[in-house]
Amino acid sequence: MTTHAASTHTAQPAQLPRTVAGALDAIPWAEVDDHFIDGDWVRSTGGARNPVYHPATGEQWGAVPDATEEDLERAVRAAHQAFRSSGWAQLPATERARMMLVMAEKVEQKAELLALTSTLENGSPITETTGVAANAASILRYFATLAGHLDSEDLRPFPNGAGKTLVSHDPVGVCTLIAPWNFPINLMVAKLAPALLAGCTVVMKPASPTPLSIRFIVEAAAEAGIPAGVVNLVTGSGRRGDTLVRHPLVSKVAFTGSTPVGRHIAAACGELLRPVTLELGGKSSAVVLPDADLEVMSAVLLRSCLRNTGQTCYISTRILAPAKRYDEVVDMVTATVAAAPQGNPLDPQTVFGPSATRSQFETVQEYLDSAAQEGAVATTGGRAVDGPGWFVEPTVLRDVQPWMRVAREEIFGPVLTVLPYQEVDEAVELANDTEFGLGGVVFSADEDAALDVARRMDTGSVGVNFFASNHSAPFGGRKASGLGVEFGLEGLSAYLSYQSVHRR
Ligand code: NDP
Repeated sequence: MTTHAASTHTAQPAQLPRTVAGALDAIPWAEVDDHFIDGDWVRSTGGARNPVYHPATGEQWGAVPDATEEDLERAVRAAHQAFRSSGWAQLPATERARMMLVMAEKVEQKAELLALTSTLENGSPITETTGVAANAASILRYFATLAGHLDSEDLRPFPNGAGKTLVSHDPVGVCTLIAPWNFPINLMVAKLAPALLAGCTVVMKPASPTPLSIRFIVEAAAEAGIPAGVVNLVTGSGRRGDTLVRHPLVSKVAFTGSTPVGRHIAAACGELLRPVTLELGGKSSAVVLPDADLEVMSAVLLRSCLRNTGQTCYISTRILAPAKRYDEVVDMVTATVAAAPQGNPLDPQTVFGPSATRSQFETVQEYLDSAAQEGAVATTGGRAVDGPGWFVEPTVLRDVQPWMRVAREEIFGPVLTVLPYQEVDEAVELANDTEFGLGGVVFSADEDAALDVARRMDTGSVGVNFFASNHSAPFGGRKASGLGVEFGLEGLSAYLSYQSVHRR
């Protein structure tokens, strides 16, 4: 394992290296053979390693251990031991919050390293990953503000006056946290921060394509004085995640990823009667109302509908346009997408990077083939870019019918579909006619009209004229998009176990 002193620069995309070699010179982790268990980097007990690739070139630049059963057992036992005897669970929440605030500062100091490592891992444009540290710090700080809720006494009178009840809560215990590759830091910290505030201990398993950036979060936790064993990290394939989900000493599972794996985890947790939070796939709609200002829409289109090269769970990749303005909407969407540069994700000018994995690259091409076969027409893009790297051209599809695969299934690539509707009621029906229910956005010059449509959409989160996530509001999916919520007080409660003590 090689180490460099952590950089204390605030990441500015324009000042960061633009080549893989330059990025590799700057970052401390590439080929490693260890996990973080019980407060230390410990060598894996096995020799198997999983490669880490840079999606923009397809070259392998790193490797991490594929955890053995013994490694996993050690990590869960360390978390269990820390839960029982490190004193972490018994600290006042305000004290845990204090350490989380220090951790947030430490994370921010690693902004540059986090940005470079993340971009090398999954090809997210550097303008996206330079915000990762600030966002992770902001999640930690937000949950720290909730400490007062946990430390205050909650005494509730019986409605019939027969006595009063002390409502208490305990941390739920050891939590298995599993994140995907599209936002490997923020989706993990969204689980880690409430778990820490609640007094839980954790074993984190990142996705195989993105196992290295999360090490900076682990470092920040240790530097903040969070006791050994509270935060553990193991790397390895999905099978290792399965072991962590089912381990008898685990009390809760939090997962973000695909709907099929989510169903599998839900089934395991159902059998074990183990609490589980699932953030899964989406196929969200952008409803363009007849009076929408298309300039307003164009300004937020890439962020709301194609963020991170279309690899974001909540983005609205189905654009529902009034039939009378269909061509106008298609033209605006096409021009906006076509004007955004695609290329080297380390270049701050880049808006669209590559697909994060070879298999995702192939999946997106299969969807483009199916679209062409089913009669949709690409107004820009429509094919893979010749290598190196796993680039698919940013694509807008018109003449899309609601029954087509590209209109119904999550593509997870830089592809927008535009569908016409006649009446607003039909637009709402189309938006709700999907197995998913995660995000959505409504564009209108009339905010009240947009709000009315937003409230009729069967989805967990929806924006009016833009979409952004807010740590203080619950975020979660309906239908096949998930179970439970993250963020807000509602998200914190998933890491607590309640007890009511009744007294006269
Ligand atoms: P997966 O659901 O396969 O993987 C997500 C995480 O779960 C990874 O850490 C993975 O590990 C782990 N995992 C895989 N199998 C198991 C298992 N049986 N038990 C426990 N953990 C497991 O998603 P992918 O990364 O392969 O992405 C595929 C699709 O998922 C995308 O096309 C997209 O549709 C959707 N997706 C949705 C996301 C969202 O935010 N809602 C995010 C990412 C993907 P490993 O990587 O080692 O296999």
